[in-house]
Amino acid sequence: MDVVEILTSLIGFRTVNPPGDEEEAVLWIRDLFEREGLEGEIYALDSRRPNLLVRIPGKKGGKPLLVYGHVDVVPVEGQQWDVDPFAGAVKDGYVWGRGALDMKGPLAIYLASLLETYREGSLAGDVIFLALSDEEGGGDYGARYMVENHPELFDGVEYAIGEFGGFSFEVMGRRLYPVMVAEKQICWLKLTFEGRGGHGSLMHRDTAMEKVGRALVSLHRGRLPVHITPAVRRMFLSMADALPFPASLLMRALLIPSITDGLLSLLGERMEVFRPLFHNTASPTIIRGGSKVNVVPSRVELEVDGRLLPGFTPDRFIRELEDLLGVPFEARVLRYDPYPDDVDWRLMGALEEAIGMEDGGGRVIPMLLTGVTDGRFFKRLGIQTYGFAPMKLPAHFPFGDYIHAENERIPVEALHFGVRVMKHFFSRGAWTL
Ligand SMILES: [Zn+2]
Repeated sequence: MDVVEILTSLIGFRTVNPPGDEEEAVLWIRDLFEREGLEGEIYALDSRRPNLLVRIPGKKGGKPLLVYGHVDVVPVEGQQWDVDPFAGAVKDGYVWGRGALDMKGPLAIYLASLLETYREGSLAGDVIFLALSDEEGGGDYGARYMVENHPELFDGVEYAIGEFGGFSFEVMGRRLYPVMVAEKQICWLKLTFEGRGGHGSLMHRDTAMEKVGRALVSLHRGRLPVHITPAVRRMFLSMADALPFPASLLMRALLIPSITDGLLSLLGERMEVFRPLFHNTASPTIIRGGSKVNVVPSRVELEVDGRLLPGFTPDRFIRELEDLLGVPFEARVLRYDPYPDDVDWRLMGALEEAIGMEDGGGRVIPMLLTGVTDGRFFKRLGIQTYGFAPMKLPAHFPFGDYIHAENERIPVEALHFGVRVMKHFFSRGAWTL
């Protein structure tokens, strides 16, 4: 089965999460391996939400490489598709369907390249392949379950290949392949503001409403401090190396904290996507306060979707918020996943080399992701994920516009490119060194 057939088959399984229903897809992947004589083990918190682990022996043995991907996808409700999102249509040079990019396409690339390399006897070292449920729902049945309940399965693993990256984009005529090496993490807070309450007919000062109002304005107008984390430093230095002057100079200048924000503003709207890479961020999303129109409440709650740079703690984040907001509040952490700021860079060269064998002009750049992936769970075990599903995309392919959106699709040629690159990587075995 080639990569296109694998992908169209995977798209045919309706693994929409919620509710998930990954079982059929996962068992189908197990069959793919069994046809090659490789046995898979199922691990599941709920049998309808299984995970599949397959150990694939390589020539050298040694410490295994983890290769993982999720089989669930996001819903299609309310979207205007030009094709049936679960038909796996191949049309106009693309494979169309929910999950084509996120991430059944990447999964198909991993499966096709691993199975071919193994069959040809060229897999350099041992690989653990893991198909996961429930990434889109937070990983309780998938990566979180595996890491918390079966950590011993990953003994000796130092590196992983997974989401999110490896797709090309063009900047000033240069083709860049970003590879996720670190993620920002969720730190959801509930801030409580207290003040004088009383009858609504009187004119009160120092109310909780006033404080939350001032806090919202400060959040909107101001920013938390700039921090240059190791992943971002290397990301922008790599872009500086890859891009021509004067862009190269600007990329370096962004790493000077005193001018980062001003320079981003000068560079215009397109550069705004970079701003959260330099800041902890706090988006106010829910307000609760008051229950009667003629009573001034003495307490108002504000929930904030906080996102922390690698290496930051909730305490430090709350101190930054206190400085910015300028009004007193109590903070309670609703949810927080720790994530260290260290990055193990050792496989970057091998990824760059594998890309270079298929795209001599392509440059690999590390990337900090503002969202989260299953990589955060494996990081707890000390496993460094490289988000890498290589795809050489047409210059103006709007990759970001198709993720979780209607008419999600992937160029057939990008799938074949991905398989060739991954085969180079798997047959060279940098992770065994
Ligand atoms: Zn995904």
